[in-house]
Amino acid sequence: MMKIKKVLVANRGEIAVRIMRTLREMDIKSVAVYSEADRKALHVRFADEAYPIGSSPSSESYLRIDKLIDVAKKSGCDAIHPGYGFLAENSEFAKAVRNSELIFIGPDHKSIELMGSKTESRKAMEEAGLPVVPGLKKPVRDEDELLKFAMEIGYPLLLKADLGGGGKGMRLIKNEEELIPSYKLAGSEALSSFGNPSIYIEKYIEEPHHIEIQILMDEYGNAVYLGERECSIQRRYQKVVEETPSPFIDDAIRRKMGEMAVSAIKKVGYLNAGTIEFIVDKDKNFYFLEMNTRLQVEHPITEMVTGIDLVRCQIEIAEGSPLPFSQEDIKPRGSAIECRIYAEDPDNDFAPCPGKILRLQNPEGGIGVRIDSGVYEGFEVPIFYDPLIAKLVTWGRDRLEAINRMRRALLEYHIVGIKTTIPFFLRVLQHPDFIKGNYNTHFIERLEREEKKLDETVEDLSAVVTYLKMEEKSKNSIPQNKKEINRWKMMGLWYNFLNRL
Ligand code: ADP
Repeated sequence: MMKIKKVLVANRGEIAVRIMRTLREMDIKSVAVYSEADRKALHVRFADEAYPIGSSPSSESYLRIDKLIDVAKKSGCDAIHPGYGFLAENSEFAKAVRNSELIFIGPDHKSIELMGSKTESRKAMEEAGLPVVPGLKKPVRDEDELLKFAMEIGYPLLLKADLGGGGKGMRLIKNEEELIPSYKLAGSEALSSFGNPSIYIEKYIEEPHHIEIQILMDEYGNAVYLGERECSIQRRYQKVVEETPSPFIDDAIRRKMGEMAVSAIKKVGYLNAGTIEFIVDKDKNFYFLEMNTRLQVEHPITEMVTGIDLVRCQIEIAEGSPLPFSQEDIKPRGSAIECRIYAEDPDNDFAPCPGKILRLQNPEGGIGVRIDSGVYEGFEVPIFYDPLIAKLVTWGRDRLEAINRMRRALLEYHIVGIKTTIPFFLRVLQHPDFIKGNYNTHFIERLEREEKKLDETVEDLSAVVTYLKMEEKSKNSIPQNKKEINRWKMMGLWYNFLNRL
């Protein structure tokens, strides 16, 4: 067993700060690295030491393996924590760290490589006993093969980039006409985004839920699961709100998913923290989707209900300690929700909105609220990186208490200068279907459709009111039929248009 004394955090933003908090609690020194754009970033201020590693684009800073290892060596670190994103799932990085006689706080590079390929991981997990989404376990070779397999699997199906991630490189195919043109585009996109054109197909699961299981495994073969996270509130196949426990599954399925996940990671010989993602269909059948070999963005909700610090566990496992608890000791309590606060404009298709934060009031204080933030008042959110600026997490004795607490905290949260997803979350949280826990991955599309319809109705009504006013009709005028309503509406829209000229 080797006691870690100093860690380089190869990341930025909220996750770098979050990792440093645990390091400080464990009396371990932290080293930050930063790009040009991040000279004044919060994680730089938070660390015990900080070193520049290059210009703003991540390819010249946070993705530079050579520079990261050089800083770690020169500053006397004995380990590197990769966070999530950037190099966290790059097996070459994990290998290079270990070859430099540093500890990589994460799994073995072989596990990272195996789980990095969607087809390879599907094959391995099926062999390890998990049900996988019906589809291929190797990339398609050509168009003929694609047509043949698509016929076997049936429509709708998904084209996926083998090395894809972050919700990118996926295409929904509803019928055969769409198949070949989409395949051609998907291949070239996969090549430019992931450096590899390999594409495979899997069955599209209708009305799906995304539910994932957090696991931990030490080097002595002890493995546990820490409950599930329901991650079905998504935009562009990316999560924005997560909660635990899932309102969709019962204890029997929960236990089955957990036990099967643990058995699978034991079979593949995994080490450290990881997440097994499942797609669950409307009849509650679950299928392995992919495995993430790192800390997840949404890990705090698991921490809130279990009281277990996952970063501490990662560090202790990397030091060679056995897990300090067994499955029976893990007793999730209450409910937790996370809202991802992005610097994005929710009313403009979630377009990134970088810029300077002129005013910031965090919802700190009160029972059951946690905020993992990477920004401060006066900070300029750079355009170069993921626009996630903070995560707001609430805990409650039950789901409704957690939801009400989240609403309270969102109302206390004030950010001026940039647009954020805060107002959007207030709309999600007051939706009757969200409150009932009655949602799947299509929830946001549906919410947007409903809001558009409502906007149109308000517009129509205001046009009719204008018409009545302009024509000096009595307030009691009643349209005789639908045709008349439409005529009033068209006339009203015309008056509104003239008024605006
Ligand atoms: P990535 O690695 O890019 O995050 P994933 O395979 O984890 O991609 O899938 C991301 C999201 O895409 C899922 O959470 C889900 O909403 C949707 N998805 C993926 N595969 C399927 C499928 N077979 N059927 C239905 N939805 C899917």
